[in-house]
Amino acid sequence: MSAFDEERVLSVHHWTDRLFSFTTTRGSSLRFSNGHFTMIGLRINGKPLVRAYSIASPNYAEHLEFLSIKVPDGPLTSQLQHIQVGDTVLVGRKPTGTLLIDYLLPAKRLYMFATGTGLAPFLSVIRDPETYERYEQVVLVHGVREVKELAYRELLSDTLKQDEFLGEMVAQKFLYYPTVTREPFVHQGRIPTLIENGTLAKDLGLPQLNRTEDRIMICGSPEMLRDLKGLAEKYGFEEGSTSRPGEFVIERAFAGS
Ligand SMILES: Cc1cc2nc3c(=O)[nH]c(=O)nc-3n(C[C@H](O)[C@H](O)[C@H](O)COP(=O)(O)OP(=O)(O)OC[C@H]3O[C@@H](n4cnc5c(N)ncnc54)[C@H](O)[C@@H]3O)c2cc1C
Repeated sequence: MSAFDEERVLSVHHWTDRLFSFTTTRGSSLRFSNGHFTMIGLRINGKPLVRAYSIASPNYAEHLEFLSIKVPDGPLTSQLQHIQVGDTVLVGRKPTGTLLIDYLLPAKRLYMFATGTGLAPFLSVIRDPETYERYEQVVLVHGVREVKELAYRELLSDTLKQDEFLGEMVAQKFLYYPTVTREPFVHQGRIPTLIENGTLAKDLGLPQLNRTEDRIMICGSPEMLRDLKGLAEKYGFEEGSTSRPGEFVIERAFAGS
């Protein structure tokens, strides 16, 4: 049996010239946990060309959703960015990953720190009712360079609160904090700086990040992971893994060059 399901593209949305998202059909046997990633790609000259992608849709949804970068000379995304409704995408049958609430010890608050496409796994985690059952507050911080890169901003700041199923929990518990580094915006600056100088806590009306009350998930560039992991460790947080839950978990949004 092939390691991949062949799924049909149902919709494509281009956010910017560097960023797009798309939905596909979902194989009836595909099981995953919210926060997981899997290998996806295209069949090129008869051979699968695949890369790791976080699944942005929640695990109860009928379709799959992905958020993708467009790397101009990237082997996969130089082609994937041209997909159209009805095209076929390969989706790996073995999702995996560390960004699961199961790999975190219980606490009051969940922080999710993302840069760029690192937002993708958290789009799944924040649409999981279990997330709201486990935490009193659920905070999503998304850092990008330019305002237009704040993909899903409307969903996160508005429409999720109106969701028939999740709306009430989201309205009570979910806080969305977008931040931009390269142009004026209501929140400006890099995530580690905003944590360290107390701006994030002050803006949200929450106590400074602390291991007694808070748990952390991190997904971003290799530099962002290095900086935030260093900060979490400085504050005494212990890293969790698939075999041992902890106080923070991390995953790369991409492998880096
Ligand atoms: C665990 C994991 C989960 C991932 N989830 C996603 C996801 O949900 N969405 C997504 O777009 N990518 C994701 N990636 C990156 C993805 O696997 C590919 O690298 C990306 O699709 C580009 O593929 P490519 O073949 O075009 O170029 P590659 O040869 O894979 O990448 C070329 C270069 O582009 C840069 N780059 C690659 N991906 C990104 C990115 N996402 N953001 C910024 N720069 C990047 C890096 O510098 C890289 O060296 C993930 C990677 C890992 C390891």
